[in-house]
Amino acid sequence: MADEKKKKIPKFNFILDADSCMACAACEWECADDAVYVDDTVNYAIDLNNCKRCGRCYRACPVDAISRIPNPEYQAAQAN
Ligand code: SF4
Ligand code: SF4
Repeated sequence: MADEKKKKIPKFNFILDADSCMACAACEWECADDAVYVDDTVNYAIDLNNCKRCGRCYRACPVDAISRIPNPEYQAAQAN
């Protein structure tokens, strides 16, 4: 049971830096899961609850505004 839970936690998160983003929308077009959206402050953002971690937005961004970072939840689960 505990092993099943560990497998469901993504190893990485994709994070969008609004300060670097030039709002070209390439990531939004690439995302097949509607996980890229425009938030209340009119910046692009990634909804990690819908994100499948495919990396398409990350590869598509022309200004490297999207980062692939280790998921702290995954690391905490591995430590338990
Ligand atoms: S990693 Fe894939 S699923 Fe997640 S926001 Fe980027 S394109 Fe969408
Ligand atoms: S692809 Fe990069 S620059 Fe374009 S909207 Fe997405 S995060 Fe911003």
